[in-house]
Amino acid sequence: MRTPFVAGNWKMYLTSKEASEIAAGIADAANRATDVDVAICPSFTLLSAVREAFSNSRAKVGGQNLFWEAKGAFTGEISAEMLLDAGCTYVIVGHSERRQYFGETDASVNRRAHAALAAGLIPIICVGETLDEREEGTTAEVIARQVQGGLDKFTAEQLPQIVVAYEPVWAIGTGKTATPAMAQEVHKQIRDLMVKLYGKEAAEQVRILYGGSVKPDNAVVLFREKDIDGGLVGGASLKAGDFAEIIKAARQEA
Ligand code: PEP
Repeated sequence: MRTPFVAGNWKMYLTSKEASEIAAGIADAANRATDVDVAICPSFTLLSAVREAFSNSRAKVGGQNLFWEAKGAFTGEISAEMLLDAGCTYVIVGHSERRQYFGETDASVNRRAHAALAAGLIPIICVGETLDEREEGTTAEVIARQVQGGLDKFTAEQLPQIVVAYEPVWAIGTGKTATPAMAQEVHKQIRDLMVKLYGKEAAEQVRILYGGSVKPDNAVVLFREKDIDGGLVGGASLKAGDFAEIIKAARQEA
């Protein structure tokens, strides 16, 4: 009942020429997978090139971050309205790299998510434990805090319009992937928490993506898990062929 969703996070990579070429390949892959939602979140400077490459495609574009104010003297920031104007459908909020290097907190993630949804963007709220937290046995506690913090003051009606991405920090860009069972355990915990906070009907509609070294050779087994509704993909989204394989893996019959 939940449409699988595969989103690429291009981080701080690519020039517009490179972006256009890769996006053209992804545009075709998205058109072949009519049962999967597909998005690419490139750098702000690449949004128009990717949007152009997606003009005859089902694939959508998204931002990698946004600020909660609508406008003003906030040098270096970007608003929800600006992302919409650039053709975005989605925006990533609270990626672990933002939390780690740019001081994002659960409270600031929540403000960004509210600004996104209020403007009509779909926020992809990222959560995930560090290696130390996993080894200390506090994964469940950390995830609960981040999910509750990120979703603070949203209503049950708004919840289905939000996407959550579980990205264990130790698996991002490291080549280490959570096993399907490990990922499913946390995804189920997130779903159960949302059931408790918002009720079953709303919680069952929320897509929970897995992120952390998703590749063509592990995507199928991860996406088969009951509460894994697709992936947030970094490195492998920079190669059209690999990303196309991952999109294919998300198709329900895969
Ligand atoms: C990410 O950037 O969100 C990510 C999951 O990266 P990678 O797939 O490279 O681990």
